[in-house]
Amino acid sequence: MDRRKFVKNAGLAGLAGSAGLLAACNRQSGPADCAEGTGAGPNEALEWKMVTTWPRDFPGLGTGANYLARIIGEMSGGRLTVRVFGGNELVPPFEVFDAVQRGTAEMGHGGAYYWKGKMAASPFFSTVPFGLTGNEINGWFYHGGGLELYHELYAPFGVIPWPIGNSGTQMGGWFNREINSVEDLKGLKMRIPGFGGEVLMRVGGTPVNIPGAELFTALQNGTIDATEWVGPMNDLAFGLFRAAKYYYYPGWHEPGTALEGIVNAEAYAALPSDLQAIVKYACQAANMDMYADFEAHNGDALKSLVQEHGVELRAFPDDVLAELKRVSLEMLEEQAAADEMSGRVWASLKTYLEKVRSSTAVGSQSFVDHR
Ligand code: CA
Repeated sequence: MDRRKFVKNAGLAGLAGSAGLLAACNRQSGPADCAEGTGAGPNEALEWKMVTTWPRDFPGLGTGANYLARIIGEMSGGRLTVRVFGGNELVPPFEVFDAVQRGTAEMGHGGAYYWKGKMAASPFFSTVPFGLTGNEINGWFYHGGGLELYHELYAPFGVIPWPIGNSGTQMGGWFNREINSVEDLKGLKMRIPGFGGEVLMRVGGTPVNIPGAELFTALQNGTIDATEWVGPMNDLAFGLFRAAKYYYYPGWHEPGTALEGIVNAEAYAALPSDLQAIVKYACQAANMDMYADFEAHNGDALKSLVQEHGVELRAFPDDVLAELKRVSLEMLEEQAAADEMSGRVWASLKTYLEKVRSSTAVGSQSFVDHR
């Protein structure tokens, strides 16, 4: 396959003691020399590209993508290295999926809910309003059938997805007016992606989705009235407190958002089995590491927002949350009825949620309430 880039690696060649084999499989050599379709041999060094929807090195999200690239390189002893591109460096943020599908890049990092125009069921794999927390969704992915459904949904596109990172429970967003009733959401033009946006529309708001890097300017110049982004660590990094007064919680629309890594299926299939395993388990390790990063740093960021930047924290009123939940469940049922795959995924999620609801309630939820 011509997009696969073989690179000479003098260090590796020295280690392997077979410079001749490497040289025989560089870009000048023919496909026969490179054993096309059989995957990289033990002495070949591969370089992949990873395109992302985030600004380069953005805290948590961008650095999480960097972490994944780094550990693939480390675990493979340099046989597979991954070069990370921030949004707009190789392709625009929301063209990450297309770039991986057509092989412009072998990997991508973003969020499943950005691709709902291609796959109606994709947002279920990011987060569901009033659905699973970060811990719960990882249980669903790895031990509740979620990963199998995720792979099935993306298979027709020649793309393999994995959960890579989790933001934990997000914040409700940034507003310049108080939200005292559902009426206050009417006419509100808000950046809010995925199912949350559909719910906002049903209560009279106007959801838009724009890349994170454009949020501050859009909020400041009035292109949007309000925005959600992620949580304290990421929202502080974009300076959203400079463009809005009130910071609402909880993030009812994103109770535990899974970020997403995608791999071009053909490029993956061409890897030898040990490199395939490295990519797969590096994704799992990166999933945990990004979640830990958010958990570890949101507290300091929240303190900074409130104490240094004068942000006013507000909780959504109970009746507003109750109405948003009612509308969310109605919307999810309709979506499940309208699209076969959405129906199967929502059924799986609901079954899983009912299973963990009671154990979460008497376990972590009860404990944290009393800590
Ligand atoms: Ca968000």
